[in-house]
Amino acid sequence: FIELNGVNKWYGQYHALRDVTLSVDKGERIVICGPSGSGKSTLIRCINALEGHHQGTISVGGTALTSDIKTVEGVRKSVGMVFQSFNLFPHLTILENCTLAPIHVKKIKKAQAEDLAMSLLERVRIGEQALKYPGQLSGGQQQRVAIARALCMQPDVMLFDEPTSALDAEMVKEVLDIMVDLAGSGMTMLCVTHEMGFARQVADRVVFMDAGQIIEMNTPDAFFRAPQHDRTRQFLSQIL
Ligand code: ATP
Ligand code: MG
Repeated sequence: FIELNGVNKWYGQYHALRDVTLSVDKGERIVICGPSGSGKSTLIRCINALEGHHQGTISVGGTALTSDIKTVEGVRKSVGMVFQSFNLFPHLTILENCTLAPIHVKKIKKAQAEDLAMSLLERVRIGEQALKYPGQLSGGQQQRVAIARALCMQPDVMLFDEPTSALDAEMVKEVLDIMVDLAGSGMTMLCVTHEMGFARQVADRVVFMDAGQIIEMNTPDAFFRAPQHDRTRQFLSQIL
């Protein structure tokens, strides 16, 4: 469903992605890990066309990503994204955060968008907070809203960039529970996370990146039991 082939990207002189080739099937769950600065966010942002790439090809659902605005808009409708820092609109209620894009981008009727938003807010166990503002919610609650908001666009794939790393420890589980639930529903997911328990529980494959490259990619069992590269072993010894 997602195909990256020989993708290279530079920030000025800095070579941020080096020959990245990755293919993700529909319904597959991929966890991406690696040290700070290894290019994990850059990779995720390229798949969502938040960043352009310079060499190689990326396609999502059969559409090749180009800089053409129509292509970018089309792909973004089918790709949901959840960031480390929630990124909710502070001046809109939880419900309005969830209905904004469906109404304005997908042109769905307001009542229908609200019904869908309420059902998804209930799914992330936050339905009773729908009329509050983001600032009135805890970090874990805000991140659950951010997940519901992304799901309101009925995406074909969900991208997560360290969704729990800005959260206090006691809120991490409530967000991971939602992600596990989503994985169980068959959603195609790419998750940048260092939550290795989550990786073991739901990932079909774990990808390890370093210095802009995919160093190794394997099933969680093989990845944790028998990492192939020194860099991977070193990384795992630091985080486990
Ligand atoms: P972290 O774990 O800290 O989030 P990461 O693996 O997500 O790291 P990226 O954010 O993808 O890493 O960054 C990869 C490299 O590209 C880093 O060296 C970073 O400084 C650089 N970089 C990222 N965004 C930009 C930008 N907009 N302009 C210039 N350099 C950038
Ligand atoms: Mg990052």
